[in-house]
Amino acid sequence: MLERHRHERTYPSLDVVEVLQLYFRRPYGSEGETWHTRLTSIRRDGTCDACEQKLEPLEISQEQFEELRRQLLEKVIKGTDIYRQTTPDELESFLNFVNEGAPYNIIIDGLNVAYTCSKAAGYMRYKVLYDLVAHLVHDHGLKCLVLGRHHMTNKHRGSYIQKMTALADCFFAQNVSEDDPFMLYATLQSGPEARYITNDLLRDHKYLVDDDMKVAFERWQQSRQLKPKLNSMSKGRVAFQAIRPYDTVVQRTEQAWHIPYDDGTLQYSYDLPKRWLCAARLY
Ligand SMILES: [Zn+2]
Repeated sequence: MLERHRHERTYPSLDVVEVLQLYFRRPYGSEGETWHTRLTSIRRDGTCDACEQKLEPLEISQEQFEELRRQLLEKVIKGTDIYRQTTPDELESFLNFVNEGAPYNIIIDGLNVAYTCSKAAGYMRYKVLYDLVAHLVHDHGLKCLVLGRHHMTNKHRGSYIQKMTALADCFFAQNVSEDDPFMLYATLQSGPEARYITNDLLRDHKYLVDDDMKVAFERWQQSRQLKPKLNSMSKGRVAFQAIRPYDTVVQRTEQAWHIPYDDGTLQYSYDLPKRWLCAARLY
């Protein structure tokens, strides 16, 4: 059962975890082992508060990264899926645009940033996006790619969007209704260090990569995605959710099982548990 949670990247509920604790602690357990279990949390650096073991890091190897890039291009970009969202011409021009402009430090989901980082309304939403891009470019010296929709340029010609195009590469798609694959492609083309900014979860795409690449895909996403906190824009700065350096998935070592569980506070499928069951073998 735990292997299945690991493979599917799902989390047991607190009820199940309580049963698991009894199971681990049962007298005369398998091969006479004794286990110590605790409900615990994980420190910022990925160390278990109960047993002080380090959890599996999010890093993936260069080979895994290359394989991920290859599969994303084959299955998500060139596969049938995206053609329902765009035209071959637009896809072609996007791929050329990115291949010429990459590598980027950061790829930005323009509409998502404009609508989630601030309660601003109307064209002021685009000031929010412009401010973020200006901050990344001027204060951090980052090369940015902003993905947007064509209507952003129509309504606001000569405004913040116009100013933004002087600071960063911008691609405004005409037909795309879902630009996740574009963002993933541009990020992967920019190398293992590139990041992307969006609050969206792009989880569905993991079903398109081969089974043995799903863990690598998830780890890559968790370590590369910067999620702005809702309405956090203040004085041109956006606050991002902290990236946890460890993988939130059921894991085991010789000495311990670590099982992230849903304590009832997880609202959305992309929420990650904060509470863990630590089961450490005493001898
Ligand atoms: Zn532990």
